[in-house]
Amino acid sequence: MVVRRLKVKNIIILVVIFLVLIFGYPFFNIIRVVSCGYSFGSAYKINSLNIKDKVIESKYSKTLDKIINKDYNFKYLDNYLELDYYDYDDFGSMINKLLDLGYSSSEINIINKMNSSSVIGEIIKHDYDRHLVKYMDYEFYKDEYLYRYLEYYTGDYKETIIKVNIGLDMEVYTDSNVVSSYSIDMFTNKHNRLSDEYVPSDLVLIKSSCASSSEYLAKDAAVAFEKMCSDMQSEGMLMMARAAYRSFDEQQSTYDTYLNLYGSSYVKTHVALAGYSEHQTGLAVDVMQVGYNTFANSPSYKWLIENSYKYGFILRYPNGDDDITQFQYEPWHYRYVGVDIATKIYEEGITFDEYYAMYLVK
Ligand code: ZN
Repeated sequence: MVVRRLKVKNIIILVVIFLVLIFGYPFFNIIRVVSCGYSFGSAYKINSLNIKDKVIESKYSKTLDKIINKDYNFKYLDNYLELDYYDYDDFGSMINKLLDLGYSSSEINIINKMNSSSVIGEIIKHDYDRHLVKYMDYEFYKDEYLYRYLEYYTGDYKETIIKVNIGLDMEVYTDSNVVSSYSIDMFTNKHNRLSDEYVPSDLVLIKSSCASSSEYLAKDAAVAFEKMCSDMQSEGMLMMARAAYRSFDEQQSTYDTYLNLYGSSYVKTHVALAGYSEHQTGLAVDVMQVGYNTFANSPSYKWLIENSYKYGFILRYPNGDDDITQFQYEPWHYRYVGVDIATKIYEEGITFDEYYAMYLVK
């Protein structure tokens, strides 16, 4: 009986040694891969694909961890090890397609970082484009405008982004955004219009010493304007509002009048179509100085250029910026945007359109 028991014991030992030899070595490798951070299932696959040495040498890649059981393509192993992981549907097949198109790992990392998956879905439908990632480096890049940037390229990425964010790649007065609620930073140009019904909520009459006729502004703007006007008048400059709030219907008749008088090419650059006039916001005011026919020659003009921002006003259509504003220089047209925005615009020497493209566009 003792002999028989010994024999059984030996057989068990032999079987254990046999199992350790067969399975122990792979198991040891899988544990090494798991200790790098990979899941057990991924580690098993990595070991069976014979890529464990490379994987263990590299730092843990969540991308490889996720992709190894689905969408893995052996020729992209080096890329998977370099690619940052992003959690969206079809991540694996999307990056394979980007790699197929010729995008590098660093380009794909930027594409994933800067874009929604719907835009990436668009990118994979197009050919490789060396400009594409360049746009994404800029702070004011908007992913939904990517293909508009690519189409509009002016030779300068940042300039392209600013111009497209403003809407300058589009035909004027078409496909415009509609702005229908009041705020001191509301923006209108030939691509952003007010609804026909829009009326600023609290229009107030500008005090008679600061207006040449009965003119109204939204309360925030009126208060700031009267303060600025009083300060200027105390310095001897009779600056006054000569046109401020204008309703949709009034703008329509202004437009028609000028159209009849001067024709369509004049109104195109000088008069806004109804709905597109900043005067309808209740935040814009045309000014004059008593005794001066040409406002740009008056002391008020010079004073306003240097000081209006302190009251929250900006020169809305500056000289030489009509390619951005799409309006000719209007030395008399001031816009209330509040002191913070006006100061930023003054300090950076930009137009309100550019401010919009950088900080306001959704
Ligand atoms: Zn005006």
